[in-house]
Amino acid sequence: MKVSRIVIGTHNYKKREEIRDILSGIPVTLLDLEDFENPPDVIEDGFTFEENAIKKALELARFCKMYVMADDSGLEVDALDKRPGVFSSRYCGEDAGYEEKCLRLLAELEGVPFEKRTARFRCAIALAEPDKLQFVVEASCEGFIDTEARGKKGFGYDPVFYVPEYKRTIAELGSEVKNRISHRALALGLFRKSLIEIIK
Ligand code: IMP
Repeated sequence: MKVSRIVIGTHNYKKREEIRDILSGIPVTLLDLEDFENPPDVIEDGFTFEENAIKKALELARFCKMYVMADDSGLEVDALDKRPGVFSSRYCGEDAGYEEKCLRLLAELEGVPFEKRTARFRCAIALAEPDKLQFVVEASCEGFIDTEARGKKGFGYDPVFYVPEYKRTIAELGSEVKNRISHRALALGLFRKSLIEIIK
């Protein structure tokens, strides 16, 4: 099957914008999941970001009968044995807001010295056609969990994720810098390269 159209397998509007931006100039038409009626809600029950991204891409490709790209991302904290990891969006319960999740994370890390608060955001992105995985890429953004939440930009764990190169949390840095250094931006860069290879 020739790759001429790809469905972006996410309902997240912000992610879609970023994906369209980074993949601009590549001769493929990008479609949204919203263009399809009742797409399935894929259960993210993998043990790794890669597994979840692959599962989502394959299930959605089967449903859409087209190429689908899907991602999974989250935060790994070394002092917590890499938690919350693939459970990042479900940490302290699916209904808990991000202020609560960030506070809980800070509480879990109370007393842990700064140099041991190493963490990373990770993002895996897969491209699949019905019943066949084309490729999967993964990238990360390294940093530290700060001792308090700072900044109002971004979303999720951004207010507690400190980037040493900029001496700020991602929520203080804003989207211009984030879109250059983030796990998702880096993974999308790799995705773009692999996609160019297969449509050549
Ligand atoms: P998903 O990839 O949409 O399943 O995201 C999983 C969860 O990881 C999100 O709900 C956030 O908790 C966290 N996460 C992923 N990317 C980011 C980010 O760029 N900033 C802050 N939190 C993130």
